[in-house]
Amino acid sequence: MLKIDYHIHTQISPCASEDMEIHRIIQAEEERGMNAIGFTDHCYGFEYKILRAEAARKEISQYDGSMEVFLGLEAHMHQYRHASVMLEFAAQFDYVLMAPNHYHLRGVVRPDAMTPRSFAIHEMYMFEAALNCPFTDAIAHPFVFLPSTFGLNVDEMAEFSAEVMTCIDDKRLAYALDMAAQREIGIELSPRFLSLRQSHLMEFYRMCLERQVKLFIGSDAHALDALASVDLLQPAIEELEVGEENLWYPKEWAW
Ligand SMILES: [Zn+2]
Ligand SMILES: [Zn+2]
Repeated sequence: MLKIDYHIHTQISPCASEDMEIHRIIQAEEERGMNAIGFTDHCYGFEYKILRAEAARKEISQYDGSMEVFLGLEAHMHQYRHASVMLEFAAQFDYVLMAPNHYHLRGVVRPDAMTPRSFAIHEMYMFEAALNCPFTDAIAHPFVFLPSTFGLNVDEMAEFSAEVMTCIDDKRLAYALDMAAQREIGIELSPRFLSLRQSHLMEFYRMCLERQVKLFIGSDAHALDALASVDLLQPAIEELEVGEENLWYPKEWAW
């Protein structure tokens, strides 16, 4: 069973539930027997106060249990060379989880047209933009599309996104993944791809593993009862034959 979850939102994120307090999450995850967890709140531009990050860091430092607890950040790309955070801010965190496809947010460039080909070209561009950002440590939910953003239902989006993946330039994707492997940038495997029925992405995750890319495990939980959703990944982990050596973990880049 997976005992790690590096993508958890606390109540600091406007979209998370009020009961997502750090001490409650730590307690719940300890009861679940987790080994390592990481908080990754959203950062909407400059509205996110550095003081809240400092308070979170202080609260985490007071924990003296056996789990490893990290303070990460979920940032997103607006377009090439434009991330939602500045380097100085990003440097306050243990790692930066960069989302290439937060298309529901203002300021994030969307595909030109509602066609699989347009989506494939655009998502690839955003994926490369996220990879090329100098402070990206892992990529959040690449190629996973939210139906509500595009006015589709879950099945329509699943069908559409499967077509998108057939339009991806495999050679270009392989090149991007090689760069991710080289820079030790993790690719997120999130239970969200299952709840959205986008299981065609198994092929993408397989390609990540073939090219020695580490998989980043995250529930993207916004509520306490969603923490256990990371367990839903177990069958996929087995099918992909993911071992410890294939898993991303936060690194200290000190020298
Ligand atoms: Zn996200
Ligand atoms: Zn998230």
